[in-house]
Amino acid sequence: MFPSHVKMSVPEGKKAEYLIINAAECEPYITIDNRMMLERSKEIVKGIKIIMHATGVKKAYIGIESNKPEAIEKMKEAVSGEPIEVKVLKTKYPQGAEKQLIYAITKKEVPSGGLPLDVGAIVFNVSTTYAIYEAVEKGKPLIERGITLTGEGVKNPGNFIYRIGTLAKDLLDHVGLVEEEKIDRILYGGPMMGIPLPSIELPTFKGNNALTVMTKEVAPKKELYPCIRCSKCVQVCPINLMPYLLKMQVEKREYDKALEYGLMDCIECGSCSFACPAGIELVKTFKTGKKVARALKGRAKK
Ligand code: SF4
Ligand code: SF4
Repeated sequence: MFPSHVKMSVPEGKKAEYLIINAAECEPYITIDNRMMLERSKEIVKGIKIIMHATGVKKAYIGIESNKPEAIEKMKEAVSGEPIEVKVLKTKYPQGAEKQLIYAITKKEVPSGGLPLDVGAIVFNVSTTYAIYEAVEKGKPLIERGITLTGEGVKNPGNFIYRIGTLAKDLLDHVGLVEEEKIDRILYGGPMMGIPLPSIELPTFKGNNALTVMTKEVAPKKELYPCIRCSKCVQVCPINLMPYLLKMQVEKREYDKALEYGLMDCIECGSCSFACPAGIELVKTFKTGKKVARALKGRAKK
């Protein structure tokens, strides 16, 4: 969703050294990047070359998780003879998170509150790279994109190209849904970071890479218990935060402390909520906490 031209405008004093193409598929269930690489590999490489030309970057990497052998082969074939390297990454969630991806490929850590450019990196997603190719080579604006329609609640899951703005209902009618009483929730995005749709009559938008329909059987509601300080949330956090502590700080409105403990570094991956045996929805608290912290910061500036 972040404007591509802003990413490509390297500010004075900064230097872009690497272009990283995020092909690590951000969440389980989502397979649209994989499909794009299988079917549009040459066009994606043209998109990469356009970005390299625009930013002056001399080296590009395509980060693909090891569970996509066909896409790896396809992209290796397509980059042959170009200064572009396919990097095979360990399959783990959230490998597709920007900072994780940069570290996996360059072994450089983006500082807390920093941007990829702070370590010389520019990161683009596979679909954006393809859209850049279409914009420059065909003069086609971003009016359509790829999406994965998935989840146990979808009768015929698959990947499709759709016109941006199409109602979620129209897309899901196309693939068919199981009986309404079996559906737990429908998400914009994947099962870990997706946002529940309050209504199926809502339109899709340009960042919509998936609609996931979870059934009650696979996503049973967890009983909620008090925190037992088991530290499972700490062990799984890819950013090395202390989610149980951050939650307490946000709930007590101790925003200064929460910021000091890295609230804004949370990438909202949902791993802590998923791992918590007490059923605590930690990530929901962080999403709200970040919004409040930003608002307070804005008010303080005025
Ligand atoms: S995983 Fe849940 S129960 Fe365990 S420390 Fe974290 S918040 Fe508490
Ligand atoms: S959602 Fe939880 S696990 Fe993921 S980065 Fe934030 S605190 Fe860490």
